[in-house]
Amino acid sequence: MSLKIYNTMTREQETFVPLEPGKVKMYVCGPTVYDYIHIGNARPVIFFDVVRRYLEFAGYEVEYVSNFTDVDDKLIRKAEQLGTTVPEVAEKFIAAFNENIEGMGVRKASLNPRVTENMSEIVAFIHELVEKGYAYESGGDVYYRTNKFADYGKLSHQNMEELQLGIRIEVDERKEHGQDFVLWKAAKPGEIYWDSPWGQGRPGWHIECSAMARKYLGDTLDIHGGGLDLQFPHHECEIAQSEVLTGKPMARYWMHNGYINIDNQKMSKSLGNGVTVNELLKRTKSAAIRYFMLSSHYRSPLNFNHDTIAQAESSVQRITNCMDNLQHRMAAAGTIAQENLAEIGERVSLIVEQFKAKMNDDFNTPDAITALFELVSEANQYMKQAVVTVQGLQLFIDALQMMDNVLGLLPQAGGNDEKGLPDAEIEALIEERIEARRMKNWARADEIRDLLAAQNIVLEDTPQGIRWKRK
Ligand SMILES: [Zn+2]
Repeated sequence: MSLKIYNTMTREQETFVPLEPGKVKMYVCGPTVYDYIHIGNARPVIFFDVVRRYLEFAGYEVEYVSNFTDVDDKLIRKAEQLGTTVPEVAEKFIAAFNENIEGMGVRKASLNPRVTENMSEIVAFIHELVEKGYAYESGGDVYYRTNKFADYGKLSHQNMEELQLGIRIEVDERKEHGQDFVLWKAAKPGEIYWDSPWGQGRPGWHIECSAMARKYLGDTLDIHGGGLDLQFPHHECEIAQSEVLTGKPMARYWMHNGYINIDNQKMSKSLGNGVTVNELLKRTKSAAIRYFMLSSHYRSPLNFNHDTIAQAESSVQRITNCMDNLQHRMAAAGTIAQENLAEIGERVSLIVEQFKAKMNDDFNTPDAITALFELVSEANQYMKQAVVTVQGLQLFIDALQMMDNVLGLLPQAGGNDEKGLPDAEIEALIEERIEARRMKNWARADEIRDLLAAQNIVLEDTPQGIRWKRK
């Protein structure tokens, strides 16, 4: 069973074969760090985290590089607004980004290179493009000569004429052609700058990724990922720059995730309907955010509203309760040599195979989640038996843990998910409630009952006294 990936370049699902056996070099375009990230930015961050986790689960050694664009027009404007410097703006929002991704249970990239720390490679890259005739200097700026690259438009499947129709008619005398894009921008007085053969300035956005991807991962990446909005012009420009320089394909597989709509409306600055990850993390569990992001196929649009998030919350709670119950029962279960585990074992491995088949099908996370819930149902069914064994419970715990290592839908390390009260604390509260009732302190007894109910703890009166379980 092999992994199939939809390649934006060919518009087909292809069997995944990395350049070097057993290793995956992956580059995902990172944020321009001038503001807090919103849920639209969080989708690629979470989805490509899952791609990476699954590749690692499949036995690959993954090198995952994602850049920080820490200098550009937006940062310069922000620094002016805040009365501070570009490096200070960058530091502030890089720290916020790192905090946000940790909050969403996203693993840190192998490397987060910054533009400002790779300036000599970027300048050298542009210089080589000029030498080869693919770029030209004009009034202190440097532009890419798109007419010279016959394949321009191949990723977004547009030819030069179609592209020409798509752009606004504005004459820029500095450019030879309307599609030419900037590689180096001359600094205006007072702006942050670096020295270059074309004078003081800073790089354009597209060239940064070409230079950093090549420096850290080599001429050809296995996977280049990003949001659909980056397909054109950003990734098209990366291809134009990199492929004329190296003579090799920039990436073997191009992957793009779809947009997020808010209440079925496009998210936009002008509508002011964007939700920041900071806000979201205040009111939504980390695992529920991940569940929401993975509940649709990554290439489909995703609709964010109160209902989809509420549904995500209750779904992840079901998974957490199942795992808690399994572990709780584990502590009490004995070993019975006679139990025939063959049948359960077979059902569990069938579900695990289904899970893998769905992930292998171009990362079909919604169907993989369905498999996970089948496992949850089987586990809940198993726990209804009068006698359960350590071995039986362990089968379910291992399978659930395996799937969760890929999807991250149980409470996340660094996330805001409360795991609920520990067993000892629950038992102490039950004791306290018995005592409160004995003392006719009904108010306290009711308070404890409500507290436990809020934690999904169900109390049962039995002849042996009060027993409890997690719902
Ligand atoms: Zn990029």
